[in-house]
Amino acid sequence: MAHEMRTPVESGCPDGFQYMHPVMRKNYGQWAYHEDPQPGVLLHVSHNGDKIWTVRAGTQRILDLFTLRKLCDIGDQYGEGYVRFTIRSNIEYMVADEAKVEPLIKALTDAGFIVGGTRNSVAMLSHTQGWLHCDIPGTDASGVVKSMMDELIGEFKGWNMPNRVHMTTSCCQINCGGQGDIAINVQHTKPPKINHDLVSNICERPSVVARCPVAAIRPALVNGKPSLEVDEKKCICCGACYPPCPPMQINDAEHSKLSIWVGGNHSNARSKPTFQKLVASGIPNNPPRWPEATAVVKKILKTYKEDARDWERMNDWIERIGWPRFFEKTGLPFTKYHIDNWRGARASLNASTHIRF
Ligand code: SF4
Ligand code: SF4
Repeated sequence: MAHEMRTPVESGCPDGFQYMHPVMRKNYGQWAYHEDPQPGVLLHVSHNGDKIWTVRAGTQRILDLFTLRKLCDIGDQYGEGYVRFTIRSNIEYMVADEAKVEPLIKALTDAGFIVGGTRNSVAMLSHTQGWLHCDIPGTDASGVVKSMMDELIGEFKGWNMPNRVHMTTSCCQINCGGQGDIAINVQHTKPPKINHDLVSNICERPSVVARCPVAAIRPALVNGKPSLEVDEKKCICCGACYPPCPPMQINDAEHSKLSIWVGGNHSNARSKPTFQKLVASGIPNNPPRWPEATAVVKKILKTYKEDARDWERMNDWIERIGWPRFFEKTGLPFTKYHIDNWRGARASLNASTHIRF
């Protein structure tokens, strides 16, 4: 007999309930409270007394098949066969039997994984897709994550911070990611270089012109061929023209830098969401270990750890001490690059560390 074909799902992700641990499925919406018995472990208790433990281990997001299989085998052997990935690329194992928690942690640690990332720790750095999935990165986001988290393992494993620290990276200047307590984002510093021979064949010129947020691109005829030109005085080096028109190359080994922003918070759980603000710019985009960017991040984290009060998030701490004290205490230089003197920035002056003129 022919198999009955499954109806195709044209959009959206599959129903997550089918993959949930049965205790989670049964108690969905019925949790009474949760606790943090130890770093990297969560305990959820339901109104009916059901309990479930979650063990969290960090990963670098882009995983090879062998590592994924190893993580799944650990789940089958030491857990109860149920895992999920968090948006910060941690893998979580759910078990309904407390006796399984310690052997599971041991198995993960023995296999080289790091258990942690809960409560007042530095959570796993989240990153955008980078070279593997996207066509416009200016740096390798997962590489930045790996090299920074290698140096912050102690802060991931322990509960040493005043509150939770969410860090993010973004591998271009305009699109996904890049908002957190500390964000490491690409910063282009020179206008794009145009390869006029390719523009007419590859780029849809009106859409490239429309893409520029400051109207710096104009159609032009170059060597008798239709092309584009950039008014470099207006250009803010955002890189938005590069995705629809790759011949407008903006990535540059020397002039594409990293910048560090702090105090961003999406959540409105305990206080209002906040914008992040630029605190360090022009940092070399220096693979494979990005030591300069890591040094700045460590400096900020160390100062926050020493100076913030218990449960103050990065933005609360800075709001209490003020920006001048932030720069003083971290020792980061306040330079002319922190000042937005571009005439179109008037509307944004209230939302950043920019100085008013
Ligand atoms: S941050 Fe930019 S380059 Fe990186 S994945 Fe997102 S859109 Fe692509
Ligand atoms: S880099 Fe940004 S501002 Fe400059 S020309 Fe391209 S889209 Fe316009």
